[in-house]
Amino acid sequence: MPDRSGTAAPGRVVHITSLANPVVKEIRGLSLGKNRKESGLFLAEGLKLVADAVEAEWRIRYLVHAARVANEALVERLSTVARARGADIVSVSEAVLGKIARRENPQAVIGVFEQRLTRADDVHPRETDVFIALEAIRDPGNLGTIVRTADAVGAAGVILVGDTVDPFSVEAVRATMGSIFHVPLTRANPAEFEALRARWPGTVVGTHLVATADYRKADYRGPVLLVMGGEQAGLTPALAKACGTLVRIPMAGKADSLNLAVATGVMLFEILRDRLRIDG
Ligand code: SAM
Repeated sequence: MPDRSGTAAPGRVVHITSLANPVVKEIRGLSLGKNRKESGLFLAEGLKLVADAVEAEWRIRYLVHAARVANEALVERLSTVARARGADIVSVSEAVLGKIARRENPQAVIGVFEQRLTRADDVHPRETDVFIALEAIRDPGNLGTIVRTADAVGAAGVILVGDTVDPFSVEAVRATMGSIFHVPLTRANPAEFEALRARWPGTVVGTHLVATADYRKADYRGPVLLVMGGEQAGLTPALAKACGTLVRIPMAGKADSLNLAVATGVMLFEILRDRLRIDG
């Protein structure tokens, strides 16, 4: 095993064509939540995305690439950096790549990275920060879209409250379009979240379909903790009660509610309206 600590020993360079190879099995296995939990690793697909992650100093364990792109300048450069940091460089056949990615026409480069999740105790908001708390979010596409939107508006982090979907699932990572590497993620159980809320120095605003306050009229004094409910049940009564303010996004038509990721986007652009203004 390469030394992953501090100054890592260079990783190995291997070429694999067999689906039965244990490295292939290990990497392929990361599409299952149980294996991601045990190993603390996850998959990210695409040359640009993997290069961005490495540049952002995420710890890489394996750099997998199609044998056909081995001599491309960007892949060579990325391989050199990843290897120097202790990652194994795994060159594979098209068949093996397709199996690892579990899709047709897979990306030619896949990275295996160490997960990063902070604890609620580690969240120390500055006055201008906006954090998004997601209670019991279940849909990986929604989570990925919210992380991507959080990145786009410069939010300080996303806090996963209670029993939520795995942010490092392949579907969630894909939906972030690379923003998973730029938005800090925190996991908190309800008690840990309550402790964070209790010491929150600014506004804690929840979104609720039965709220009477219009989201455009609320005072978003920083730092802001925006609390969103889950897709099925919405905000639990306990969390709704814990929010200093509850707001609603008015709707016309017959829809009962907005999609969670859409509602989060609408809220973020309102909270950050002044900061995101582009003056002509
Ligand atoms: N059946 C759920 C309920 O009754 O709350 C619907 C949940 S909705 C799909 C998911 C989350 O998006 C809500 O908990 C809320 O945080 C937010 N949301 C969706 N539409 C909203 C609206 N019009 N106003 C405020 N929040 C909204």
